[in-house]
Amino acid sequence: MAVIRNEKYIISGVVVLFAQMMEFNDEYFMGRALVLAQQAFDEDEVPIGAIVIHQNKIIGKGYNQTEKLMDVTAHAEMLAITSASQYLGSKFLDECTLYVTIEPCVMCAGAIKWARFGRLVFGSSEPKSGYEVYCSPKTLNQTEIVRGVLEQDCRAIMKEFFARKRK
Ligand SMILES: [Zn+2]
Repeated sequence: MAVIRNEKYIISGVVVLFAQMMEFNDEYFMGRALVLAQQAFDEDEVPIGAIVIHQNKIIGKGYNQTEKLMDVTAHAEMLAITSASQYLGSKFLDECTLYVTIEPCVMCAGAIKWARFGRLVFGSSEPKSGYEVYCSPKTLNQTEIVRGVLEQDCRAIMKEFFARKRK
């Protein structure tokens, strides 16, 4: 009996540890996306950053560059998705997680769907232009979605950017 009880403790301990690691990873990787958002901020672009993770490794990065590239499709997610696909040599990214500081727009949600992402993690919701206002919940029904990771930080950098713009 004692042995069985110990095994139970070990298994539940591993489950708790795993859950903590997952949480740590989501916050850690969102922190990396925030560094890219800061880079956009420094270049006077709307400060949104994105990264793609495959097997705990960053394989794609992007930050919003619509002004610099004069291209409305140059959103952080689109650039990160393109670089991840080139890295893996695959248009499908079903074993990957996309981290983005702000809820994706409709265009990016479409790209996330076509790439068949396994997971999407975003920081702050975007009630005006986020895809969840416009799309049916079926749009990304193949993708696990986590909302609100480092939400305050992701929102704060946007607020600061637009407050400066208004001055
Ligand atoms: Zn977008």
